[in-house]
Amino acid sequence: MPAEDNLQILLNDTRLPADLKQVAQKVLDGERITFDEGVLLYEKGELAYLGVLANYIREKKHGDVTYFNRNFHIEPTNLCVYDCKFCSYSRLIKQRGEGWEYTMDEMLDMVKKYDNEPVTEVHIVGGVLPQYDVPFYAELFRRIKAHRPNLHVKALTPVEYHYIFKKAKIDYASGMKLMADAGLESMPGGGAEIFHPEIRDQIAKDKCTGEQWLQIHEEWHKLGKRSNATMLYGHIEKYWHRVDHMEQLRQLQDKTGGFQTFIPLKFRNGDNQMSNVPESTVIEDLRNYAIARIYLDNFDHIKAYWAMISRNTAQLSLNFGVDDIDGTLDDTTKIYSMAGAEEQHPAMSTKELVELIKQVGRHPIERDTLYNVITDYKDFEFAEESKPRFYKLPVVN
Ligand code: SF4
Repeated sequence: MPAEDNLQILLNDTRLPADLKQVAQKVLDGERITFDEGVLLYEKGELAYLGVLANYIREKKHGDVTYFNRNFHIEPTNLCVYDCKFCSYSRLIKQRGEGWEYTMDEMLDMVKKYDNEPVTEVHIVGGVLPQYDVPFYAELFRRIKAHRPNLHVKALTPVEYHYIFKKAKIDYASGMKLMADAGLESMPGGGAEIFHPEIRDQIAKDKCTGEQWLQIHEEWHKLGKRSNATMLYGHIEKYWHRVDHMEQLRQLQDKTGGFQTFIPLKFRNGDNQMSNVPESTVIEDLRNYAIARIYLDNFDHIKAYWAMISRNTAQLSLNFGVDDIDGTLDDTTKIYSMAGAEEQHPAMSTKELVELIKQVGRHPIERDTLYNVITDYKDFEFAEESKPRFYKLPVVN
């Protein structure tokens, strides 16, 4: 049944409380919902109701299209000067023996391993260490672009940029310009966690504040560049903290239009300092995707990381506002597996991902980082012998 019919049925349901009906009407009319209505959705919106609203918006924006891209990850180090309580991945400098620190040549070798693979993007993010500074990253980006000019460099978050710019005594605007000149093309969405200091100070003390995170993205957008945004949810935050987080993103997006995609990140409690905090349920994960889709009316895309939430939940999420699945990746990220995700060795071939999307009646499209279409897989037939296109490397994200 078309998504609009489902929404009409909902609106005609006399049992639906008036406040929820008002939000549903706003969605039908294409009107923005308020902060209080965002909190209302979290407090009172049942899964089926939220799914109808989110799917209406999703299909209005994208129909059945579901995007994915083919990238690989480089995680320069898992050592970090910070000590975020939710981080299962980082080893503090004092535990150096358990970590890795790749040299520039080692990272370039990782890039070269993909020379004959049809990847379009390298995603670089990891821990924060003093030797990975402005000259190091500028040189790394330059050398990657010199080796493979059409490989899109999506790298580092405001957490790293704030640290390295402060060390280099340069302001955000000059720093981002320098990075763009070196070859940086997009910024991933990490490090956002929860912006509100009431929560951020408890889980991610010392690293850049929410305000600084937003300022760095703003400077990046002013250069005409694009970035993503995330939110780490399902730990000690209240619903209103999530709405506050999305509200700040929505306001910056109104100003710059530079965000492409919002990616809710589920808190996982494996092997970190918050292991006593229970994880959110699958129902809550789906509700959260749906509310993000409803609230962030000025974001084009909502993305799910299948490696973090499992393949089945990723399929379900496509009916709750998600239009982008990340991605075909191999063993090159350890961020999720180290946090207790079911997928300990996340790997999915293009064929498997296309099937995963088609199984739930959606239309798979391979995109590049900026959502240009690379291949439409709607009627695509894979050759029998089609081999998985990724190699396993002893590295991460
Ligand atoms: S979340 Fe990032 S900044 Fe925080 S400890 Fe882990 S690697 Fe470091």
